[in-house]
Order: sequence, then C-alpha cells, then structure tokens
Amino acid sequence: MPMLSDFISLFFPQYCSGCNALLIQSEKAICSSCFIELDRFKCQTAKNKFVFGRIEVEEYVSAFDLIKDSVLHKILHNVKYRNDKKSANILGIELGKRIKQLKLHNKIECIIPVPISKKKLKRRKFNQSEEIAKGMSQIITAPVETNWLMRKNNLKSQTFSSRLQRAANVKEEYYLNKKKTLQQKCLLIIDDIVTTGATIQSCLEVINKDEYSIYIASVAKTQKD
Ligand SMILES: [Zn+2]
Repeated sequence: MPMLSDFISLFFPQYCSGCNALLIQSEKAICSSCFIELDRFKCQTAKNKFVFGRIEVEEYVSAFDLIKDSVLHKILHNVKYRNDKKSANILGIELGKRIKQLKLHNKIECIIPVPISKKKLKRRKFNQSEEIAKGMSQIITAPVETNWLMRKNNLKSQTFSSRLQRAANVKEEYYLNKKKTLQQKCLLIIDDIVTTGATIQSCLEVINKDEYSIYIASVAKTQKD
C-alpha cells in the first residue's frame, strides 16, 4: 500500500541540490550519487595550532576541499543564495561526523556559528552557518549558541567602498553580547566556507583567548598552494 509520504513526494517533488535530479524517498536534499561525488573532496587532515592572521586556535577542521564548479560548490551556492536550509543541515551532519572521527567531539562544549547581521538575516531568512551548526549538534552533543558572538549591521552600503575599506569594515563588524555570559570554555566556531580566513580572524579578535580554547570548523575550504 502506498504511504502518505509517497503521495507527498508525488505532489511536491524534491530535487537534488547538487544536480537537480529528482530525489527518491530515502534521499534528503542531496542525491546519493552527489554524496559519492562529495566523498572525493573529503579533507583528510585537521590542522593543529592553526593560525588565522596572527591568532592561534587549537585546531582547524574542514569537512571538504572546495573545487570550483564542483557539486559542493553548487550546493553551497544554493545554501547561501537560494534558502536551501535542508542541504545546510545535511552538510552540518557531515561536518559533525568529521569532528567525531577526529575525536574532538568530547572536547567541544559549545558550537558558535559565524553570525550575520540582523539586516542580512531578514533578507536571507536564515544564517547558513547556524543551520550547519544545528545539523552538527545532531552528531556532537553540544548546544548551539547564537546570542553571544554577534555581527553589527553595516552602517552604509559597501558597494562603493574600496577593497581596503571593506577589509577594514569587516574587522570591526563583530562584537560580544555583553548581556550574555558564556559558561562554556571550549568553543567550536563554525563557518560555511573558509577562503582567506579573514572572517574567522575578525571573530577571534573579539574573543579573549586566555579565557577560552577555540576550535574552528568549516564545511569547505578553498585550496591554497
Ligand atoms: Zn545529485
């Protein structure tokens, strides 16, 4: 006998975020062949005492290497610009598994997604890093904290500012919510993609390193030689 979920998928077909193929019942957001494809880009190593700018963290872990025009590239684009919350969640689960493999899950007390401004949140409906963090917390049992590390609204449009000015602006965009006291001391900061590391560095600059041990994880990192 057909199940209710079969009828639902008949009327609301779901398509793969990586290749647009029609998903079958057991697949969620990403089809199984895209998952196999993703496997090829798994990051094998974590980086101990990794440095962002001049700031050292305990460890930096990325689930995947980001290759231009790859399936992952497409999925992350859909997450960021097409409200693909489900894929963000699934990538978060994958990142969580990676953290667990590396046996870091027992150390992490709190997961902190890189924040976006309230203005941007309104426009985009959700913060992709937060969805990734939520997926991850299904694998490693640490709470997700979104009310401590915050991002300011841009004071003015950056469209016409120079690259240098933009970089300077980014530096001052994060702050800690003074009304919130964080009990946990071992933190995992989550971002979707790490490219130059400038965003993570800006976040780290507002956190007191004597007080917290900090781990960083991203779904993808761009390869640098
Ligand atoms: Zn696919």
